[in-house]
Amino acid sequence: MAWPAVRSFALDESWNDALQLSVPMGRASLAPPDPPVQSISVPELPDLAVVADAFHAALAGRPVAGIRALSPLAVRGTPAELAALVGQRVVRVARAGKFLDLDLDGDRVVINPMLTGRLQLSGRGEKAPSSTALEVVFGPRAPGTGVPADAAPWTAGAAWLPAGDVPVTVRYRDPTQMGKVYLLPAGIERPVPGRGPDEMGPDALDPGLTLEAWRDRIRRHPGELKNLLRNQAFVAGIGNAYADEILYEARLLPFRKRSTLAAEEVDDLHRAMRATLEASIALLRERVPPTFEKQVRDHLAVHNRGGQPCPRCGARITEVKAGGFPTGYCRGCQR
Ligand SMILES: [Zn+2]
Repeated sequence: MAWPAVRSFALDESWNDALQLSVPMGRASLAPPDPPVQSISVPELPDLAVVADAFHAALAGRPVAGIRALSPLAVRGTPAELAALVGQRVVRVARAGKFLDLDLDGDRVVINPMLTGRLQLSGRGEKAPSSTALEVVFGPRAPGTGVPADAAPWTAGAAWLPAGDVPVTVRYRDPTQMGKVYLLPAGIERPVPGRGPDEMGPDALDPGLTLEAWRDRIRRHPGELKNLLRNQAFVAGIGNAYADEILYEARLLPFRKRSTLAAEEVDDLHRAMRATLEASIALLRERVPPTFEKQVRDHLAVHNRGGQPCPRCGARITEVKAGGFPTGYCRGCQR
């Protein structure tokens, strides 16, 4: 976890003021309490896929007009590096595993929301929520330019898309302050924890992760299926909630060992992974806008559904907590 080259900092007086607000005692008296946080709703691939598409459509082509780190501890970079982002235009917003990448003209910003980090798209002038860690104002698009040609088709003509001639504010909010925002200036090699070649495998929706590639990779992992799916070095983007849902879709028990799977079960798991993630993304595109801060989880079949009837067979869903992570599954129809 060492971060030798960069330290946390306060840029100026306004940052110091903002920092004071994040001190628990000060905040209690100065700001309303944060809304309750569902610690289990960690952002995963479907959540971030929707945010990435939407933010790319909303922000690409716009210049950074202003940036404020209200919680400097969340930012990994120097004040000069943060200030240098102003004036740079957004080239691309994209998701990689459980990270969100913001590519600017020269520099890159990588966000790892971890447990409770949320990104919010909002108009100018709205008050920042109390746990806002970073606020970025993007200026209007240049006259004659519009939504980028490579915007995801589902975003076309959406009511939440801000008009090109008005500024847009993006806030990164994180009540637990576990997430991090990494500044990666052009030409500076700076490792991002979790993004190293040994730490992050192919994305779960990477077209290159074919059935053949899946069979080949999974051979090296003999352990329990839930741990396998959550292992970002094996496949990137899946966390606690969607691992449960994928195993439910595949009708496989979470604590079953991969080494016990028949060949067709290995194939089923690949199909279930794709089907579960794609169906969830399609649903979240309808349900998450317009602010993109909302974490929609009520469509899940077994995760966090302990004691409720299984939607497929009607048996009571089992929930166990291992290492603080709830695991939901159905003994009736998963084997
Ligand atoms: Zn069942």
